[in-house]
Amino acid sequence: MNILVINCGSSSLKYQLIDMNEEKVLAKGLSERIGIEGSRIKHTTTGKKEIIIEKPMSDHKEVLEIVLSTLVDSEHGAIKSMDEINAVGHRVVHGGEKFANSVKIDDEVMKALNECIDLAPLHNPPNIMGIEACKELMPDTPMVGVFDTAFHQTMPKDNYIYPLPYELYEKYGIRKYGFHGTSHKYVSLKAAEILERDIKDLNIITCHLGNGASICAVEKGRSVDTSMGFTPLEGLAMGTRTGNIDPAIIPFLVDKENLSMEEVNNLLNKKSGVLGISGVSSDFRDIEEEAEKGNERAKLALDVFVNRVKKYIGAYTTLMGGVDAIVFTAGIGENSAEIREMVCNGLESLGIKLDEEKNNVRGKEALVSQDDSKVKVLVIPTNEELMIAKDTEELA
Ligand code: ADP
Repeated sequence: MNILVINCGSSSLKYQLIDMNEEKVLAKGLSERIGIEGSRIKHTTTGKKEIIIEKPMSDHKEVLEIVLSTLVDSEHGAIKSMDEINAVGHRVVHGGEKFANSVKIDDEVMKALNECIDLAPLHNPPNIMGIEACKELMPDTPMVGVFDTAFHQTMPKDNYIYPLPYELYEKYGIRKYGFHGTSHKYVSLKAAEILERDIKDLNIITCHLGNGASICAVEKGRSVDTSMGFTPLEGLAMGTRTGNIDPAIIPFLVDKENLSMEEVNNLLNKKSGVLGISGVSSDFRDIEEEAEKGNERAKLALDVFVNRVKKYIGAYTTLMGGVDAIVFTAGIGENSAEIREMVCNGLESLGIKLDEEKNNVRGKEALVSQDDSKVKVLVIPTNEELMIAKDTEELA
């Protein structure tokens, strides 16, 4: 069975065509600058040379038309005809409380998706546009929606309710939802597989450390808490996002800096995090390089980032009554041995013993704890597309 996985942003569209019999990527690509000057698609069919298609593309439907014709192209394509695409899996950012699992898309689901727009006004509309375009172009192909929030719908209420007037939860759905669910699910399942244990016997803390970063407490395969919240702004210090701060800083800033709400929002989401502290970059490679040269603010940014990861590991260990494995994933988690070492350093009292030599890996699955470490530490590259494809295969 071949599954096409689609991930639409407001001006971008990522896709992968996956052969599920062998879990092999047949082709993948990225379209950028949709609707603005310079739109293009970078397409690679496995085993063939990457091609770049540059032409005006005004919307997601136009992009998809080109993607589909490229996939079946005799020279650059991966399949002979569209019939070889058996189902399409769509990444959807926010499923609110309506979706605790992936779902086969029908009219009811489309209605419910539209009702979730308020919760993710920047992300859900392009996701919906992608689904609608696909439905028009491939009306007979089953479509499945896979939500970033769904995995966290198992959180108990005392972990997702904010200490705000309860009516605000009832009126607007203000609560913790959590994100990166597909990634946390994928790496926790993979960890159980690598450890040759039943996930139902394991407590796992998954650290998705990328430009956006979140941590999840996975108890017996179910998310019981996660660091992102009502929006992806809560939790860890990130590339450019604050993570947790005292909310009273916001009215203080509005007053002192004479900022509008939009400007505050921009400051919290785009100018803060390790970029804000270091003044160097949001990219950990740049910050690590500057810190090595002795830049104190770059060092501080790394320390603040690591400090928070440690606190969540401590909190989630307590919450689950112990932890069996810690997983590092996403750009930083998969690639930065230094950050993994900084995080694990000092956590020996929790039974975490990192093996310095084994930890010297980048971008591949590895068990990086010492043999006698009570808590196993793993590096697992995330694969949200494969997780989406698996759910799609199951439902379609
Ligand atoms: P997102 O999907 O949220 O954009 P990624 O998971 O792709 O983020 O992670 C991107 C981040 O990973 C970059 O900002 C960079 O800081 C970090 N990163 C990538 N490679 C390395 C590396 N070798 N060392 C340290 N950090 C890295």
